[in-house]
Amino acid sequence: MNLKRLYFSVYDLAGNRDASQANRLLEQSQYWSRNRIQDHQLKKLKDLFEHAAKNIPYYQKIIKKAPEPTWNFQDMMAYLQDIPILKKSDVQEFFEELIDPGVDRKKLVYQRSGGTTGRPTQFYHDRIKLDYTRVALQRNFDWAGYTMRKKCLKLASGQYEVTINKGMKGKLKNLLFNRFFFEGAFLTNERWADEVVQIIRQKKIKVLWGYASILYMLAKELGNGKDLGIETMISSSETLLPSQRQKIEETFGCKVFDDYGSREFMVAAECEAHSGMHINEEIILLEILDESGSICQNGTNGNLIITDLYNRSFPFIRFEIGDRGAFFEEEEPCACGRTLKRLKQFDGRSSETIKVGDSVVSQSIFPDYFKTVKNIEAYQIVKSKDLLTINLILFDKEDHHILGEVEEHLQKRFQQKIRVKVQQVSSLIQEPNGKVLVVKKMD
Ligand SMILES: [Zn+2]
Repeated sequence: MNLKRLYFSVYDLAGNRDASQANRLLEQSQYWSRNRIQDHQLKKLKDLFEHAAKNIPYYQKIIKKAPEPTWNFQDMMAYLQDIPILKKSDVQEFFEELIDPGVDRKKLVYQRSGGTTGRPTQFYHDRIKLDYTRVALQRNFDWAGYTMRKKCLKLASGQYEVTINKGMKGKLKNLLFNRFFFEGAFLTNERWADEVVQIIRQKKIKVLWGYASILYMLAKELGNGKDLGIETMISSSETLLPSQRQKIEETFGCKVFDDYGSREFMVAAECEAHSGMHINEEIILLEILDESGSICQNGTNGNLIITDLYNRSFPFIRFEIGDRGAFFEEEEPCACGRTLKRLKQFDGRSSETIKVGDSVVSQSIFPDYFKTVKNIEAYQIVKSKDLLTINLILFDKEDHHILGEVEEHLQKRFQQKIRVKVQQVSSLIQEPNGKVLVVKKMD
């Protein structure tokens, strides 16, 4: 019996679920012809637009006419170009108007993303969308050779992950998936790498999963980890630099599989051919646009724009996720036989690490951490030669003790190697064009 199918059918017993159906679809559709995948996307897009134009207050104003039933995929794409881009700031401003008023909110799952804009975005997922995302994630794990029977150690990167995995649901899920969880406070405990090794040996871990920077740090600490018996590694949430990949693979003697997802979507992942990342096209439509809003050629970098094909309760139509990337140049099908379009692996973006004095910190630490701190409306990191100043706008302006707490937490995380100053401000520093940079360099 296929364990994954069994899991999703048990899962569906909870009611109002679609996981088994999603699993059946996604197992097969990855090998469909391009035409068939586009037909699927076309059908979902027509449904979504019709639903949004009729029921969602925000889109009632924006969508002037719904798509015609006779349209083909190319007609649909042409029509889409006239639909305005949904920015993170729009999601914030029109949050209430983006919710389907006909749906009981208690049945929706509230989410907040740390994002890279310095302002957390809030939104809702409905259950069906979550099912499809979960199934897509599981499929991406299959590609990496991480099947449900294999024991996996997840290296947590932030407080948020620790919190969700400590809850009853998190514990149950980890038990079911044979998944262990290391919540060692990286950078604050010198023996963390030894502790990870101990868990790998004790639990007979076969899969390591974590942020690129954390897998890399582990590889550097260990020097040689070939005798640990790790079979595959999954790198999430951050750009995996070629130099990091090489070091990790040499150290553990196995392949790293890069994936790209966010709190909003599970976008793409590498297959065993390691030749770009296959996009989960059955659940999202991905467009890549240049600064003027025109479609980029394959191989050319642009802004990633995502339409969620399954979340009807809080539709994301042409959402600017805030990341840049390019479609794979090759028109040739992937060696693995899957027909899903591919994204190029991300080029290293220098903005993802911050160098202060002799130390380097990952920028992703900040959204992860600030997501867990209540009362922060927005933040900005101002970097000077040997000091990081954190500017905070607070919802409750009188809540001064939060400043000391944040400062203490960050100072600890950086092992006192980087000087941190936290201050309350009424506005963030703007660039001449009005943009606010999350990391503002003053040196
Ligand atoms: Zn492939």
